[in-house]
Amino acid sequence: MSENVDVVIAGGGVIGSAIAYFLTATPGFDGSVLVVERDPAYGQGSTARSLGSIRQQFSEPTNIYMSQFAIEFIARLHEYLSIDGRTPDVGFHERGYLFLASLEGRDALRGNHAVQTACGADVVFLEPDALAQRFPWLDTAGLGGGCLGTSGEGGLDAYALLQAFRRKAEHLGARFIDDKVVGCTCRGGRVVAVHLRDGGQVACGSLVNAAGARAAEVAAFAGVQIPVRPRKRFVFVFDCRAPMIEHCPLTIDPSGTYFRPEGAYYVCGVSPPPAEDHDCLDFDVDYRYFDERIWPVLAGRVPAFEAIKLFNAWAGHYAYNTLDQNAIIGTHPAVANLYFANGFSGHGLQQSPAVGRAIAELIVYGEYRTLDVSALSVQRIVDGRPLREHNVL
Ligand SMILES: Cc1cc2nc3c(=O)[nH]c(=O)nc-3n(C[C@H](O)[C@H](O)[C@H](O)COP(=O)(O)OP(=O)(O)OC[C@H]3O[C@@H](n4cnc5c(N)ncnc54)[C@H](O)[C@@H]3O)c2cc1C
Repeated sequence: MSENVDVVIAGGGVIGSAIAYFLTATPGFDGSVLVVERDPAYGQGSTARSLGSIRQQFSEPTNIYMSQFAIEFIARLHEYLSIDGRTPDVGFHERGYLFLASLEGRDALRGNHAVQTACGADVVFLEPDALAQRFPWLDTAGLGGGCLGTSGEGGLDAYALLQAFRRKAEHLGARFIDDKVVGCTCRGGRVVAVHLRDGGQVACGSLVNAAGARAAEVAAFAGVQIPVRPRKRFVFVFDCRAPMIEHCPLTIDPSGTYFRPEGAYYVCGVSPPPAEDHDCLDFDVDYRYFDERIWPVLAGRVPAFEAIKLFNAWAGHYAYNTLDQNAIIGTHPAVANLYFANGFSGHGLQQSPAVGRAIAELIVYGEYRTLDVSALSVQRIVDGRPLREHNVL
């Protein structure tokens, strides 16, 4: 293949597909869009292995506003992603998050709560006695309080959202191909061509890096380094002998261990401590992790979880930003037409509508026109200035 394309997107997961959609849907954009995806069945990318949850409970306003746009986007999905009058079903259901704090963590949780409410998030702070009253299944020993999202949080089918973005983008003229970006040619501080695994070359006006956990590889083709590494995360599915807990939010223990109902079961997980969090691209599940790390915490926090049985498990990869676990969005000062949409760590699914819109605005207008996401700029990475987000999972 040898052709000319206005925008090439490396990676067609939920982020690449959202960008393709917003670009082709932007009034005044009449360029060509080519999405190159190395794994068109999406068996290995982060999106299909995600939990698909959306929350407003971040500590950084930009992250809160991005998730708020996700909720608005889903509420108006028919306006954005319907084709010939048919709206895709992405299975969204509203369910709050419940962030629990230890006695020592109480002030930090209150601080986050103040930021969230100032940003318009519908989140309440609950004292330990209010927690006990509202969630009688919870052991509140050692807790200093909790924050509960009372609307605007929940979960969806991540794979369905990816496909909905992709189908609408294709409907509007974007082209998706089964290939791999294996290099690029740069001249004068710009990417001028992208090299494909099949031997073809595509001359391009811009290149978007949406390569998920492999984003650093694609950045390196243009001579740029980004601190994004593949880091494995396990999700465990368990069955509980006691009747299902009623009104169970996605609950995060102060240890970082989380759980939530999933159909007739529960899903749970926890990120490893930094010293054990190594770069890795395999999908092996370490079942001891559940027995040794997760179950003791679950049983301590919810007495009904004393008697549970592991039912299933899977592994996926965060595109982990080692600087600050936040997204990296925008252009690089050294390569003007290379756009980054990377490093989402554990919260990229919910940011996909806002990122798709933001990158499309940057490409078409050269500036953010709706939500300014410049707090997540590439420049902060170049400067080594972390943007601290306290609520990472
Ligand atoms: C276990 C787990 C749970 C999660 N839970 C949540 C959650 O509840 N909420 C949330 O918001 N986020 C969650 N996330 C994070 C979320 O899944 C990711 O941030 C999001 O899916 C990132 O989308 P992406 O398109 O960047 O990455 P991906 O889905 O990985 O897509 C990147 C694509 O790029 C392709 N690619 C890579 N290199 C090349 C190349 N050289 N050429 C062509 N194609 C290439 C890959 O094949 C891949 O399909 C979770 C992640 C995991 C692993």
